Amino acid sequence: MFKKILVANRGEIALRIQRACRELGIKAVMVYSEADKEAKYVKLAEEAVCIGPAASPLSYLNMPAIISAAEVTDAEAIHPGYGFLSENADFAERVEKSGFQFIGPTPESIRIMGDKVSAKQAMIRAGVPCVPGSEGELPDDPVQIRRVAKSVGYPVIIKAAGGGGGRGMRVVHTEAALINAVQMTKAEAGAAFGNPAVYMEKFLQNPRHIEIQILADKHKNVVYLGERDCSMQRRHQKVIEEAPAPGIPRKLIEKIGERCVAACKKIAYRGAGTFEFLYENGEFYFIEMNTRVQVEHPVTEWITGVDIVKTQIMVAAGEKLPFTQRDIQIRGHAIECRVNAEDAFKFTPSPGRITSWHMPGGPGVRVDSHAYNNYFVPPNYDSMIGKIIVHGDTREQALARMQTALAETVIEGISTNIPLHRELMVDAKFMSGGTNIHYLEHWLSQHK
Ligand code: ADP
Repeated sequence: MFKKILVANRGEIALRIQRACRELGIKAVMVYSEADKEAKYVKLAEEAVCIGPAASPLSYLNMPAIISAAEVTDAEAIHPGYGFLSENADFAERVEKSGFQFIGPTPESIRIMGDKVSAKQAMIRAGVPCVPGSEGELPDDPVQIRRVAKSVGYPVIIKAAGGGGGRGMRVVHTEAALINAVQMTKAEAGAAFGNPAVYMEKFLQNPRHIEIQILADKHKNVVYLGERDCSMQRRHQKVIEEAPAPGIPRKLIEKIGERCVAACKKIAYRGAGTFEFLYENGEFYFIEMNTRVQVEHPVTEWITGVDIVKTQIMVAAGEKLPFTQRDIQIRGHAIECRVNAEDAFKFTPSPGRITSWHMPGGPGVRVDSHAYNNYFVPPNYDSMIGKIIVHGDTREQALARMQTALAETVIEGISTNIPLHRELMVDAKFMSGGTNIHYLEHWLSQHK
């Protein structure tokens, strides 16, 4: 097992990884930008290295600074968390070339999955069902583009091959709008992701976002840890996640879970990963694979009892998965609310000093956050400042626990989306379960 790991991230996930290291008896080296020197995990760190100024390109995306921090502290491995460099194949490669273990899949796996076109092609070969659409990248010729759209059938969605974080997507309802939409998405994708390639999918009208968590070791053992329902989204970004997915027959989950496991074996995948699907009329359609730990991993940890971050570290060190598929039993129901520093209904960011911070507790309540009383939320990064996760024997109990947890939560000095979560947790449709990916946007347009 490693003796020392460098945590190449910030925010709640940096703290989460630090906690996992402590439990495993591993020293965690924390890195931070000048804007993050007051973060909880930096204060708690045995060792912390400043890697640059606030702007991410100069700190959390600064590969040489991160690798030299690992060198000067004698770390053996680097955990990339999520976001930032976590899905950057070049970074994984540089980490390994510098003699460190990258806690994640191989650079090749990251590269294939990082390009959504090659990811879909790999999945089709591995027998995973995908959303119908263009076979690969869209050509430049407008005649051919129109032909593809006609055969896929409107509405279609144009997506950037290198896209992520809900960006680089455009829905097209009519042929008249098609060519312009393709050109705009290409231009945006080139500017935002350095890759102008786009592809086309059928735009599904009422799907749910269902994803399968997998864990794989370096000895060809692969296990899936059930599913998560992440359909409560705004602008293609997840707001609430839960597990298991309400109302989907276990048999269907098992079938798709086994497909994911088989695909991982086929591509020699290692580490944690998530297969994202759209689910409509009893069918799953693959949209992308994330080759890292996800924000919403705690809901799966709670219903399976598996510590995903600890297991990531163990398999990176070469250990075998400490469980088999048969050991994985789903217990109860878990829900996660992402806590964002933003206006609850207008969504304008609200960084600044937290003057009062009181987090909920009691049975079945977990809070993952690096914030605290008097913490200053820097304006430079993502607005998520933490997650409230609850577990219950049933979905009803989990909902009741989340309602209580949100009622107990006090955050003052900045605005947060806690008021939105409070309303959603008592919304009749959400409470009955199974809302689709458009539900939250509709709800917002009607309620505010
Ligand atoms: P990203 O990598 O930016 O998260 P995804 O491909 O995972 O992009 O898609 C994010 C979200 O966008 C999905 O959860 C879903 O809400 C919506 N979406 C993506 N593809 C489609 C599609 N073909 N039809 C309908 N909605 C889609």
